[in-house]
Amino acid sequence: MDSFNKKIIIAIDGPAGAGKSTVSRLLARRLGIPYINTGAMYRAAGLKAKRLGIDFSDTESLKKMLDETEIEFVWKDGRERLYLDGEDVTDELYTPEAGKAASDISKVPVVREKLVELQRRIGREKGGVLEGRDIGTVVFPDADFKFFITASVEERARRRWRELQEKGIKIDYEDVLKDVEYRDKQDSSREVAPLRKADDAIEIDTTDLGIEEVLEKILKYILEQKGESSSS
Ligand code: C5P
Repeated sequence: MDSFNKKIIIAIDGPAGAGKSTVSRLLARRLGIPYINTGAMYRAAGLKAKRLGIDFSDTESLKKMLDETEIEFVWKDGRERLYLDGEDVTDELYTPEAGKAASDISKVPVVREKLVELQRRIGREKGGVLEGRDIGTVVFPDADFKFFITASVEERARRRWRELQEKGIKIDYEDVLKDVEYRDKQDSSREVAPLRKADDAIEIDTTDLGIEEVLEKILKYILEQKGESSSS
């Protein structure tokens, strides 16, 4: 498929473990545009704050920390790697503790301000598939396409658990379920940019769908809007 001529922005939002990352990565590859994983940015911010021993209620220190932080995505073997101040920290970002830290730090308004600014800058520069919680509502409310990907909480926890097993991280399913429930509650109820579907987003429930089916649904919709067929 040809790449898009203009800088297209595709927003993919939804709760933890709904399959957003896999779908977004594949979608970006099919369309030949960048993939921007905004959750990884909150994870990196949480990791750095933890390493420096900064309390998440200390907004002054968090602001100063982010002013002095460089976050960059580098592609290696078809996957994005996140470099935090020049160090590849990707493997440290996906433990339940890092997920909890990300969810906790993402409630802090100054953190959101800084990261949203960075996400807009990266998005405007090259366009892309931006994956997160608030892309269609806050970061790019004028996105060309908006999708809201969901699945039942049990199915999402099962997927996360399997992912962690594959990475060699030993953990009980019940603990993963608790983590997903915790983040759902926190992400949906926070004051700033809570997780919610944008009014004009297309909702896709992936509980009973495979990745390829979700990808095809999204591509079909995008290409229909562009007046092309998905087999082109
Ligand atoms: O997408 P992922 O699960 O990696 O995101 C980690 C956490 O970062 C989420 O639970 C959420 O609290 C936060 N997040 C956010 N806004 C985004 C992306 C992620 O608040 N756009």
